Amino acid sequence: MAEAMHNCAIAAVYIKENGDSANRALFYLYKLLLNQQNRGQLSAGVTTYNPERMQILDTYKELGPVNEVFKTSDRQQSIEIFKRYAGNKGIGHVRYATSGSEERSLAQPFERHHGRKWKWFSFCWNGNLANFQELKQHLMDKADYHIIYNTDTEILMHYLSRELRSSTKPNLVKVFSRLAQKLDGCFNIAFINAFGEMVVLRDPYGFRPIVYGWKDDMFLVASESNALINCGVTDYKHLAPGHLIYVKNGHVEVKKYAESPKKSHCMFEWVYFANVSSVLDNKSVYITRTNLGKELARNETETMDAEHVLVPVPDTAKAAGDAMAYELKVPSAEGLIRNRFVGRTFIEGSSREDRVQNKYTALKEIMEGKKVILVDDSIVRGSTTKQLINYIKKVGGAKEVHVRISCPPIRGPCFYGIDMSTVSELLVPKYEMEPKKGEVDNKIIGKIAKDLGADSLKYQSIAGLVKSIGKPAKDLCMACITGEYPTHYGKKLYLKAWDNFKKGIKERTYAC
Ligand code: SF4
Repeated sequence: MAEAMHNCAIAAVYIKENGDSANRALFYLYKLLLNQQNRGQLSAGVTTYNPERMQILDTYKELGPVNEVFKTSDRQQSIEIFKRYAGNKGIGHVRYATSGSEERSLAQPFERHHGRKWKWFSFCWNGNLANFQELKQHLMDKADYHIIYNTDTEILMHYLSRELRSSTKPNLVKVFSRLAQKLDGCFNIAFINAFGEMVVLRDPYGFRPIVYGWKDDMFLVASESNALINCGVTDYKHLAPGHLIYVKNGHVEVKKYAESPKKSHCMFEWVYFANVSSVLDNKSVYITRTNLGKELARNETETMDAEHVLVPVPDTAKAAGDAMAYELKVPSAEGLIRNRFVGRTFIEGSSREDRVQNKYTALKEIMEGKKVILVDDSIVRGSTTKQLINYIKKVGGAKEVHVRISCPPIRGPCFYGIDMSTVSELLVPKYEMEPKKGEVDNKIIGKIAKDLGADSLKYQSIAGLVKSIGKPAKDLCMACITGEYPTHYGKKLYLKAWDNFKKGIKERTYAC
């Protein structure tokens, strides 16, 4: 993908057996988070449960990727972290900020201390609340709350605390049923309390994935299946929308906690976000991406000759690019080499051009004098694609660059956990200037191609996307392509986002 955007991942571990190995929950949380690093590199954190500790629940979180947070390059420091946070249960999180700033205090899990054990809890989540403003306003106006961070995680913590405020220990399934009725949006939550009860839930629409399974005496939950597989869980299940996993007194139960009015699995998970080795709701990410490539090939109009070479943008467009090349009988070559060790750095050049050159090396040996078919998974803002085309021509020496995108044009913001919340940051609306339905007009695509410096541009069709995933269109969220938002507040925010765009207001639509 040309522009870095991610959401978050959650994880949970419960080890049933007694003895020393029972305290290895943190080791498996670490592994689950490491395997989900693709979903967020801003911060990582865990809360573990250990009744032998004064701090029955204890939370460790820091800014940075998982390896840095767990100090794996310093053996002594790392051992100390694993010793201090040992326990037989825990939850974990990697974060990419879609709401709120990048400070450490916003890293998750969020732990809320209390003397009463059912009110002492920690939670983390993956998603965004589309009714964040209304929830926040209600707390401030009706209940005299002071909001510190102005992020939906803080709001969610307050609402959860309010659901737990009874004088007797509440039933957690009912707590989350009531909570879900107040929330609009995408929310996969992992929760643990000082009784050692754990809940992991998937929101009623099922925007983001959750999988779970056993390995011997150990129960593991993760956002993505590749994390479970790499921890030895091969027989995993997909948690259904509106369902939760409840770990209590050594038992694990899966229960329905909310009605699911409709499934809305985010199409972008298959196209770009999820790890290519994962399977989401029984549909493989890799197979979907190869299908997307085949669909692009089926609709290709350029006549291929010996001068053509197909170059996928690494790594997320590789499966689609290779499949497209195979169908078109043109070579697929690594004309762009990704520099895997750049990581997140604050000393990288600030211009988009610098960032493209830090991230990729263009191979002249592959592209010089060639007609390059550049395959990417999506164009969101367009600025990186423009720089990439320029770079491939200037440094790679390509004669022509024909851009093929495996996702249909992005025309609307996302209010469900993906970092694109305004119309003004998107490329296509700048040309359409009003909300539109159906496929984008070819004249507009031609104009965009010209402005990007591409010799031609073609996007995936909406029908091609649906066919490639292999799920009925009604079970997918494609709101950022179609403008059809599945939730009440999503629809409202879409109108507001367009209104803001027309008035020249650039701030995030769902937050202050
Ligand atoms: S709006 Fe787009 S990115 Fe957001 S959940 Fe729906 S399909 Fe995914």
